[in-house]
Order: sequence, then structure tokens, then C-alpha cells
Amino acid sequence: MLEKRFCHFCGSRISRIYLEGRNRLFCKTCQQPIYENPVPASCLVVRDDNGRILLVKRSVEPEKGGWCLPGGYIEMGEEPDESALRELREETGLTGRIDRLLGVMKGNSGIYDTLLMVGYQVLSFTGKLVAGDDADDARFFAPPDMPEVVFRTHRLFVSMADERQRQHNR
Ligand SMILES: [Zn+2]
Repeated sequence: MLEKRFCHFCGSRISRIYLEGRNRLFCKTCQQPIYENPVPASCLVVRDDNGRILLVKRSVEPEKGGWCLPGGYIEMGEEPDESALRELREETGLTGRIDRLLGVMKGNSGIYDTLLMVGYQVLSFTGKLVAGDDADDARFFAPPDMPEVVFRTHRLFVSMADERQRQHNR
């Protein structure tokens, strides 16, 4: 992760000090800690009628060339579910409808240190599957044929969706 070096309020050089129970970035000019927070992102487990799961092949770092769930960073002013569905459209050409929230969990990021990852399930969608933004390929995989999913949070959401599917089929 790149360490932040300058205060985003005044541009002074910042340093780390122990404050309020942890090591924090601090601006001596502003006399203020520079609080850092997880970056919100969302992803989708999209399942077709045959139980296959949609994965995209990443065309950008991190994990370029790896497979993951459709998703990305939430933009200013977006609802988390809107953001996830926008990413789905951009990366795969599909327009989806959220079935349910799978969960919210902490993710690790080489760029931002910590992510807040929101996972949804989509069971109904329209459109023609075509790889778009940030994706070299987009395909549905039957669980036994699935390549390794590169992000821990995405793997956990796939397991959670599988568990729900099993309960549903019982
Ligand atoms: Zn400052």
C-alpha cells in the first residue's frame, strides 16, 4: 500500500503518531488527525437458471488476469445496490435485479488497505453477456468448473450464496 505523505487539507507533510488508541496519520499544521476509513465496494453473485455463477476476468490490477465476481467501488451519491448493478452492466452488459443482500464484510486491498465489501445475490437479469469495462471476459461457470476466485470476500459471498441455494433446494 502507498503511504499517504501530505495533508489533503493544507498540503503539509504528515506523520504517524499514537493518538486515541492507535497509530494515526497526523497533520502538525492543522493540528488534526487524518482519519482513514475503509473504502466501500460492492459485488454480485449472479446465478442463472442452471445454477451457474457469473465471473469476470480482470483486465486491470489488482489481480489482473484473475477471475472474480462483477463489482467495484461505490461512487459518491450512489446507493450500494445501484452501484453493484451499474458495475454489472458495465462489466458484463447484463441488467440485473437484486434478489437479496448476502452480507457486508471487511476486505483487504493492496491500494486502500481495507475495503468495506457489500455482497448481493442476483437471480434475474436481462441482456446479452458481453465483457466490457475492466473485464477481458465474462462467463457463467457451473460450480465444479469454476476457476479460482481471486478475492477472499468474493469467495466467501459465493459460499454464502451456495449455502442459501442448498437451503432453498432442501
Ligand atoms: Zn493539514
